[in-house]
Amino acid sequence: MIITNPATGDAIAELADTEPTELPDRLGRARLAQQEWAEIGIERRLQTVVRFRHAVSQEIEHLAEVLTGETGKPIRQARAELDATLPRIDFFLEHATEALADEVVHRDPSSGLEERISHEPLGVVGNISAWNYPWFVGTNVFVPALIAGNAVLYKPSEFATLTGAEIARLWTEAGVPEGVFQTLVGGGPLGRALVELGPDGLFFTGSFATGRAIAQAYGPHMGRLQLELGGKDPAYVAPDADVAVAAASLADGAFYNNGQSCCSVERIYVHETLHDAFVEAFVEQVDAMVMGDPTDGSTYLGPLTRSAQLAVLEAQVADATARGATLVRGGNALPGPGAWMQPTVFTGVDHSMALMRDESFGPLIGIQSTSGDEQAVELMDDTEFGLTAGVFTPSQERAEAILSRLDVGSAYWNCCDRVSPRLPWSGRRHSGVGSTLSVSGITALSRPKGWHLRAS
Ligand code: NAD
Repeated sequence: MIITNPATGDAIAELADTEPTELPDRLGRARLAQQEWAEIGIERRLQTVVRFRHAVSQEIEHLAEVLTGETGKPIRQARAELDATLPRIDFFLEHATEALADEVVHRDPSSGLEERISHEPLGVVGNISAWNYPWFVGTNVFVPALIAGNAVLYKPSEFATLTGAEIARLWTEAGVPEGVFQTLVGGGPLGRALVELGPDGLFFTGSFATGRAIAQAYGPHMGRLQLELGGKDPAYVAPDADVAVAAASLADGAFYNNGQSCCSVERIYVHETLHDAFVEAFVEQVDAMVMGDPTDGSTYLGPLTRSAQLAVLEAQVADATARGATLVRGGNALPGPGAWMQPTVFTGVDHSMALMRDESFGPLIGIQSTSGDEQAVELMDDTEFGLTAGVFTPSQERAEAILSRLDVGSAYWNCCDRVSPRLPWSGRRHSGVGSTLSVSGITALSRPKGWHLRAS
């Protein structure tokens, strides 16, 4: 596989592909290695994770440079992703022992009956990952998977494979036994072959279209399936909101990482009384964003990681324009090398436009005027996705009343585009199945066994 720098179009590395025909052997090695890994006990596995975490913390600058080189993520944002990966690992280190401990849930002295729950590893877990936050979405799965005693066949995205190779190196240096964590190098066809092989668990992060294909192919294997998919995340600026605060937060939520986040703000609804003031404050934020060389510390917007996404964005711009939306900023691709899109803001949008329905996954946002909370709820929920939603208002009561009516996995009051290791991360409808992070994201990598114990 040839790795290309999306900012320059230059080939920067070549890696040997994993052939689909190698996978049965890889799975066999993982199965053997997993048994020993499970037997050494959680304490020793946690010590290995502590060494991995330490190694990551020592190499943040190098790892950030690798990430920027292959994805075009601005270096400041690459460092921020690495920095924020450490507390995620800490969360798992702090909570896994208790989450995976045996629990006696009933004792009946008169009959001598004891009921207990234990947590056993799934076995070999297939982890197919996305490129937009490879450290975040990777550690969400492979860290608790390893702590719980599983082996992992990790297929990084073809757009973040160098990072995947670094992750494998760091696990080896941390002392993970051979075969327990294996990186597979390849694109969609290799991912498909991994799914068809039927590992004991399949944890996927990526688009809805791929997630649906995986669900169909993996279903007959009856293993544990989790899908973290895309979004069309809305935010509502209520009539009592602080316009400047909302505009600053939402501009960052829409354009951070070039809008290439599953929880990027993709639709903004603003109460009609604040609409014009909000748009003015919002574009002021956008105008201050520096686009350019992603290795430069002052850059906020880099190239698109996947050049193919440019055509999706251009089609959404053309569709919105044809249907009468007002282009307030941007709207054009910029000359290469690489695929560059100006940060683009539309007003006067509605739900007939692809821009307000389909995931953009780029620096493109529509702002729609609304008549009040009731219409905002209707519009925010008018989507096939269900990842996150946000409400900007000083009133917690108002925010919670609105957010509790929405079919989403994460609810934001006066914030957006935010993930916490302490809270479950889960999509509803086309945004996914199952959840990562929080304590439930640890037990998801295990199988419960119910013990019915009677001494005589
Ligand atoms: P993608 O679906 O194109 O690819 C994801 C992974 O699937 C890659 O590793 C790819 O090689 C592999 N793949 C492709 N076809 C496959 C197949 N048929 N069978 C098995 N594997 C296959 O997605 P992407 O472009 O890497 O990521 C962007 C998407 O991911 C966006 O939709 C984004 O919203 C979503 N995402 C979701 C979350 C979340 O937590 N919900 C986090 C990050 C990204």
